[in-house]
Amino acid sequence: MMLTVAKFGGTSVADFDAMVRCANIIINRSDIRVVVVSASAGVTNHLVTLSQQLLSGIEQQQIIQQISDIQYAIINQLHEKQEAGNEIEEILAHLTELVGQQNTLQTAKTADAILSCGEQMSSRLFARVLRQRNCAGAYFDVRDVMATNSLHGKAVVDTDALQINSQTLLGPQLQDVVTVTQGFIGRDGLGNTTTLGRGGSDYSAALLAEAINADDLQIWTDVVGIFTTDPRIAKRAHAIGEISFGEAAEMATFGAKILHPATLIPAIRSSIPVFVGSSREPEAGGTRIMETVASKPTYRSIALRRQQTLVTVKSPAMLHASGFLAKVFAILASHELSVDLITTSEISVALTFDNPQGSTQAVITEKVVEELEQLCDVQVENNLSLVAVIGNELLRSRGVGSRVFDTIPDANVRMICHGASDNNLCFLVPEGEGEQIVQTLHDTLFV
Ligand code: ADP
Ligand code: ASP
Ligand code: MG
Repeated sequence: MMLTVAKFGGTSVADFDAMVRCANIIINRSDIRVVVVSASAGVTNHLVTLSQQLLSGIEQQQIIQQISDIQYAIINQLHEKQEAGNEIEEILAHLTELVGQQNTLQTAKTADAILSCGEQMSSRLFARVLRQRNCAGAYFDVRDVMATNSLHGKAVVDTDALQINSQTLLGPQLQDVVTVTQGFIGRDGLGNTTTLGRGGSDYSAALLAEAINADDLQIWTDVVGIFTTDPRIAKRAHAIGEISFGEAAEMATFGAKILHPATLIPAIRSSIPVFVGSSREPEAGGTRIMETVASKPTYRSIALRRQQTLVTVKSPAMLHASGFLAKVFAILASHELSVDLITTSEISVALTFDNPQGSTQAVITEKVVEELEQLCDVQVENNLSLVAVIGNELLRSRGVGSRVFDTIPDANVRMICHGASDNNLCFLVPEGEGEQIVQTLHDTLFV
């Protein structure tokens, strides 16, 4: 039996009609046995607000009401309104309780419990929509298999435990029912709910595909595949039919929101081909991501990642000294911060960090800066965007640098990284210039 894991993102499960479109995809493809859903569009953002901001009781109630309205728009179209309503009310009551605690005890643990409510609700409702369409959809709590550490907001999955748990709990039911479960969430050894980071449902689906030895992973979203750049930025962007694991992984890493950065790690490790398509237009085809593809264009795509932080550390002690960088990195590691790009000069090092809005992950805090200042001068700049040109043999092809930078002669380029990978050339620009630069570059390189 072919075994496919299908993931449906927030817009794909935004409302009843969207859920029905997803249900039709599942009904038409008997190989889809595990379905991973995100929270309905907008819900996680509301939950992030509830978990991160100090709000008055009234403001909290208003946001919970908005979340409830999104769920009830779906419930009201179900045959079993009463039962579905009861299920959702239970979760909303728990959410209200957690938000109440949040005022007194603001912890990352509570924040994760709050954030997990979106997926808990959408998965329950989606299982009902499937059953209403006469498909044997069975709700499954992914936390029973998705074992993680306790790094709230950015939990690391124990893939061995996931595999064992999945074989025991999911394996036996794969033939009989379509399992409907949550992306994004997991559970630590203490029994607390954790989350894998914003956009993490793609990654959850890939991990589950690996754990059950699936033949295929499908990511159903709101665009008909992976484009040459974000179609919201460049109108002339077009879908890519086939792309290699390596190129797609670079795209995801460098911020193409279409895939969570870690999604392809399990897929590559276990050679599981990935398909990306639109749940609105399933017949329109999509992008296949696989180990090797026939075409290897020099320029494949451009990704834009907003809200980057640039930290420049400077110390005369670096001159001819060894061990300075190790100390800097030790401080960053102790705060669980991961560095993206690095450039160095004789006495300074520039480092970039991802700092996206609505993120639940650690950022450069005053504490980090204070610790670094014990070692060196520290300068922190925000409001920057990272532009990544992704392709093949970029290091071996002549003229890549001039082709890229001659196209954007007026850009205020703050940092350039090229040389570590044959698949990308990246640079930092002021946030306000990012979109225009991507449009110009895109239309020069791809149109
Ligand atoms: P989902 O809720 O289904 O996970 P996301 O909003 O996370 O969907 O990702 C889909 C969005 O990613 C698209 O609507 C598009 O704006 C954006 N995107 C960014 N880069 C690309 C790209 N190269 N190709 C396609 N979409 C992209
Ligand atoms: N619902 C989560 C988010 O919005 C996870 C996801 O959609 O992938 O980040
Ligand atoms: Mg996403």
